[in-house]
Amino acid sequence: MHILVLGAGVVGTTTAWYLRQAGHTVSVVDRQSGPAMETSFANGGQISVSHAGPWASPRAPAIGLRGLFDASAPVRFSPTANHRQWRWMGSFLRECLPGRVRRNTDALARLAISSHAELRSLRNTLGLEYDGSSSGILHVFSDRREYERARERAQWLAAHGIRIEACDAPGCVAIEPALTGSRRALAGGLHAPDDEVGDAHHFTVALAAACVEAGVTFHFETTVESLDIHDNSVRGVAVRDARGVRGLLCAEQVVCALGTHTRQLVEQHGPRPALYPIKGYSITFPAGPGAPRVSLTDEEHRIVVSRLGNRVRVAGMAELGGHTVTLEPERVELLKRLTRELCPDAGDVDNAEPWAGLRPCTPGNVPMIGRSRIDGLWYNTGHGSLGWTLACGSAMVLTTLMNTGRPAFDFPVLTGRRH
Ligand SMILES: Cc1cc2nc3c(=O)[nH]c(=O)nc-3n(C[C@H](O)[C@H](O)[C@H](O)COP(=O)(O)OP(=O)(O)OC[C@H]3O[C@@H](n4cnc5c(N)ncnc54)[C@H](O)[C@@H]3O)c2cc1C
Repeated sequence: MHILVLGAGVVGTTTAWYLRQAGHTVSVVDRQSGPAMETSFANGGQISVSHAGPWASPRAPAIGLRGLFDASAPVRFSPTANHRQWRWMGSFLRECLPGRVRRNTDALARLAISSHAELRSLRNTLGLEYDGSSSGILHVFSDRREYERARERAQWLAAHGIRIEACDAPGCVAIEPALTGSRRALAGGLHAPDDEVGDAHHFTVALAAACVEAGVTFHFETTVESLDIHDNSVRGVAVRDARGVRGLLCAEQVVCALGTHTRQLVEQHGPRPALYPIKGYSITFPAGPGAPRVSLTDEEHRIVVSRLGNRVRVAGMAELGGHTVTLEPERVELLKRLTRELCPDAGDVDNAEPWAGLRPCTPGNVPMIGRSRIDGLWYNTGHGSLGWTLACGSAMVLTTLMNTGRPAFDFPVLTGRRH
């Protein structure tokens, strides 16, 4: 079967690999000049199985409200007149109900565990190099009540077999000595020794090269403008290349892995997937002598610090308010200040390379994997804050679904009716 994958981010490229391994003829189309140039370019780098929970939780509305009035809050909500934003917010609030949080956490945990196993196997089979490290992730907390709540949530994940160990403040410093000079008063930490980090961009570029060797065709600098649909069945996509020349790419099946742009494309044809972009920032700088080896998540300020080879990446911020990736200097400065406070000797923060990207978020953080309402059109998108963590497992779930009609394990796939 000839399958066209739309999008060469970490999700589209892993999808292309798994579909090709299953024996399909696969082409990938992307508007950029190479793989993973948008949201997968400079994310936090964490493979955080231990944090495979949704953002929507009973505490989330209060956190969002704080962001309405405090410009320096890590989570910021800028209300717009756009009805899509309000509809998405309504769905998000529904997903904050305790029963839904539990259901979403369970689905994400199962997907994250499978994804981690798939990533390890891919890395070993193909010898992929992507500045990866298996030193684990340490979540640190400054607020004791927040810490106790997180310990309770960690028990849900532990029930899935995810190793998470609680430690006091000295225990945190023993696990990661880079915290010795930290200006944060630590209440405690949760250590996930099996978690990993790696550069999602490097990984995707390496995997795309392996895809090409395996026979996958990539069409870069090619923008998908619309779907070619006859009698509610997709036959391909209308595209425009870098010179502005328009054409048609035909296929028997189409997988949409366009991240935040999925909605714009399919909305023209009727379906209205509940996807909204949530902007985040990162800075990357050369590692200093006091750079952490264990990846850190500062739960109070919602930033992650990851060692990627001889670089350090710090990522965070969540801004709900539109589609732009403009770098706001005060947000970049905030990220730098938080880095200096947490790990004063992490490296040359002054000369950090800033970046911003849009997380493709569903209200419950559970990605959209499965059939759309249009015959032959499939989704693998909506991975929000966890796209790097979940990419390999999502590609495997979709491939198994397309081949056998069932997901490989218990996961709420789309059936063509649910969005
Ligand atoms: C600040 C930040 C930190 C993050 N940290 C982490 C982390 O530590 N761990 C983790 O697991 N996840 C993290 N994430 C989330 C993760 O980066 C995303 O979930 C993931 O990159 C999404 O991948 P994707 O392939 O779906 O989207 P993308 O990488 O955006 O890929 C979509 C592709 O579609 C292409 N495209 C779009 N529109 C068109 C069109 N019309 N025609 C042709 N091509 C098109 C784009 O060029 C792009 O290549 C973070 C995100 C941000 C913003």
